[in-house]
Amino acid sequence: MPNENLPFLDRRSFMAAPLAAVAVMADAGQAVAATAGGTVFTGDVVNGKKVVSTLDIGDLARGQKHLLYFQGVESATGQPWLVSVIVAKGSKPGKRITLTSGVHGDEMSSIRVVQMVMDALDPSSMAGSVMAVLDISRPALETMQRRWPNQGRGIDLIDMNREWPGNENGLSAPSRHAGLLFNRLLKPNSDIALDFHTGTTGLECADFIIGDRSIPEVSTLTGLFPVRQVWDSPAYAGVLHEAFTAAGIPSICPEVGAARILDPQLIAPFVEGTMNVLKHYGVIGGAVGRTGVDAGTFIGNSALPVIATTGGFIEHLVKLNDKVQAGQTVIVQRNSFGETVAEYRSPADGEVGAIRSDASSEPGNVLMFILFNRAPAAGDQDYPE
Ligand SMILES: [Zn+2]
Repeated sequence: MPNENLPFLDRRSFMAAPLAAVAVMADAGQAVAATAGGTVFTGDVVNGKKVVSTLDIGDLARGQKHLLYFQGVESATGQPWLVSVIVAKGSKPGKRITLTSGVHGDEMSSIRVVQMVMDALDPSSMAGSVMAVLDISRPALETMQRRWPNQGRGIDLIDMNREWPGNENGLSAPSRHAGLLFNRLLKPNSDIALDFHTGTTGLECADFIIGDRSIPEVSTLTGLFPVRQVWDSPAYAGVLHEAFTAAGIPSICPEVGAARILDPQLIAPFVEGTMNVLKHYGVIGGAVGRTGVDAGTFIGNSALPVIATTGGFIEHLVKLNDKVQAGQTVIVQRNSFGETVAEYRSPADGEVGAIRSDASSEPGNVLMFILFNRAPAAGDQDYPE
């Protein structure tokens, strides 16, 4: 929680009073170097970038790009995880658009989309601001994996996109990291937010967007991207774009193809879509480019998984974005002798939305998910990922 009345008692304060007293003493040596408005500069400069522990982009000079580090939670060696932040602050007031990436550590194309958008901006001709937060789950990014390797009982792999809006006093480092980011950087500086992702290691997706289209402004956002699929859903509890939306900040989750790689062909439509968002809100000038109408976006309100019932090697009989029919055989699975051990059928009429890219699987894994447009039957579960 913020400590408005205790400016030198920072996040290392604890709920228990005796510990809080210790924390005050420990922090006294780490003087907060400068405070302007709501922004707190720690006094550190790393790689030539100033470090902040709270940011109010209203404090930043207009007509410029600002490169900063946000001070996140501490690592097990006591050093804070620094998160890279770029703010393009327009010369005139206007909407504040936030672009986030790296909540999962193996999703490279999402980071590149945000970098390319920021490169294309000229703050001197902008109204409003664009804030990019590029490498949110640093420990996961350092090891090119989806989840944060948290020092719990041994190493627990924690999915940071189930932790939002976080808790500064939470029971894990990623929960606290999420709380710090959400309370001190993201929520106070955002009117609209796009949280970029990709598929994950072993499970590939094409170009699609997740967003709850029952919210008019979210529906508008999903339509501004020239992509092939939209999943009309609030998704799961704890995801960042839903935490934004729940806080009154309309938000969507663009998914930019496969994990681990840069895919220029899929990056391009997401850069175009993001520029469309900035044009739609008047942050930059120019006509809106291609949208979902031009791309013939397939909008599904449900997604069902095809789950492996046994172990073995899998062969897909369909590709991403293919139309499939309920009951159509979509995957064959074989054992090491080459004998067929399972055949899997589509649970619905729809489109292939994601596909396992590893060619073997244990039972229980998602092999594919089908995006479709009818309510699931009783007992079905939406795609649990
Ligand atoms: Zn992700």
